[in-house]
Amino acid sequence: MDMDMKVIEQMVAQALKEMSVQQPQQFAAPKVERYGVFETMDEAIEASVVAQQKLLFSKMEDRQKYVDTIRAAVLKKENLELMSRLAVEETEIGCYEHKLIKNRMAAERTPGTEDLITEATTGDNGLTLVEYCPFGVIGAITPTTNPTETIICNSISMIAGGNTVVFSPHPRAKKVSQMLVKVLNKALIEAGAPENLITMVEEPSIDNTNKMIEHPKVRLLVATGGPAIVTKVLSSGKKAIGAGAGNPPVVVDETADVEKAAKDIVDGCSFDNNVPCIAEKEVFAVDQITDYLIHYMKLNGAYEMTNRDQIEQLVALVTKEKGGPKTEFVGKSAKYILAKMGITVDDSVRVIIMETDKDHPLVQTELMMPILPIVRVSDVDTAIEYAHEAEHGNRHTAMMHSKNVEKLSKMAKVMETTIFVKNAPSYAGIGIGGEGYTTFTIAGPTGEGLTSARSFCRKRKCVMTDAFSIR
Ligand code: NAD
Repeated sequence: MDMDMKVIEQMVAQALKEMSVQQPQQFAAPKVERYGVFETMDEAIEASVVAQQKLLFSKMEDRQKYVDTIRAAVLKKENLELMSRLAVEETEIGCYEHKLIKNRMAAERTPGTEDLITEATTGDNGLTLVEYCPFGVIGAITPTTNPTETIICNSISMIAGGNTVVFSPHPRAKKVSQMLVKVLNKALIEAGAPENLITMVEEPSIDNTNKMIEHPKVRLLVATGGPAIVTKVLSSGKKAIGAGAGNPPVVVDETADVEKAAKDIVDGCSFDNNVPCIAEKEVFAVDQITDYLIHYMKLNGAYEMTNRDQIEQLVALVTKEKGGPKTEFVGKSAKYILAKMGITVDDSVRVIIMETDKDHPLVQTELMMPILPIVRVSDVDTAIEYAHEAEHGNRHTAMMHSKNVEKLSKMAKVMETTIFVKNAPSYAGIGIGGEGYTTFTIAGPTGEGLTSARSFCRKRKCVMTDAFSIR
């Protein structure tokens, strides 16, 4: 009996040994989950084509479920915190607490399928429908300044519209973009969505962006960024949506609630360290209230520079010789910039202000830093004229603090901006403390304005003759 047991034990041990050796050969290697991140642009696009065909034949109810899945994945506490922290760490731009707000807004307030409103015409000849239908695969280029916000809001809008999306993020936002694309695809797959509704390449680069722009299976291009990329997609020969640069001015006239204006301007200008393209970049104030405005801005976290030489030192520090902001200062805090000039302030300082003339580079350049030049003018009409000049025809965003309805209307007309905010911080224009939905792709140059699902759709007509008019 003892002998038998020993033999059996030996046999079991031998069998286990063989199994452990044979196991890797017997079973296929587990599938590597890419969750939308591919080695080459071709692979990312081909996977997106397959996914789009599946999405095209999904029910609208399913599309809305996928939108809700994206919202829930972003709003999951650990995801929201991780993407907001990683964005700041990787790009070295902006402020964690404000990224939390922006990402949350993108998830909660970007419209879903309800945005696709069908037009119906009925009459003696029957029924005609005009519906918002997908383009197919969209190539979307995203900026360093809102890396995750743009991926969230573009993904929701584009998928709601029945499209799939290949992202080309800025190389300096590679890791956080990959992390987000993977989180979203994983959640989508778990919710039963087709794989690869959202894709990107492992190594984003200008070369890969060019491949995406040229690829015949990418039917619509959407660029959220500066002038170079907007011009590039608009010259591609494809349908393109350009969401470009701004240099939003603020006008404050003598009828304004100056104390509120001062606070609103500092709040808007310092939001995410001034990187939002809608954020206050220069102020034109009527002389009568300028001292009062500056006084209240200082009470609300503004540090005033009055020494001319010091202001020019600041210009040399943060701008390039040939003009434009130095990348290393974009999205840095006022405290950080002042420290580089040997000035120590506490965290209550959020914005650096100074009086300049209207042609000063700090006024005329989109800096994306909490540096806010103030130009003193004799009257509101001059303020509006200078504001129009400083916006450079971007027609992006402008703010005005006034109680004079006539002048508010005049500025709105003269500026022709996509967003015009009255008596509030700039971010009210994207739904933070203001009514209306949120977007992080504001397409001024091509006219879609505050983009949503329907901006990424084709209008198609379906005609039924001699029937279905029931009036
Ligand atoms: P950026 O123009 O440097 O980069 C934007 C994107 O374009 C990146 O993905 C980048 O890799 C790509 N890119 C830039 N030049 C390219 C080229 N020649 N070829 C191929 N790809 C190219 O801008 P940024 O610093 O990341 O973002 C800030 C700019 O974007 C600001 O001008 C801001 O106003 C603008 N912006 C506009 C909106 C909007 O909705 N209108 C939103 C966010 C940012």
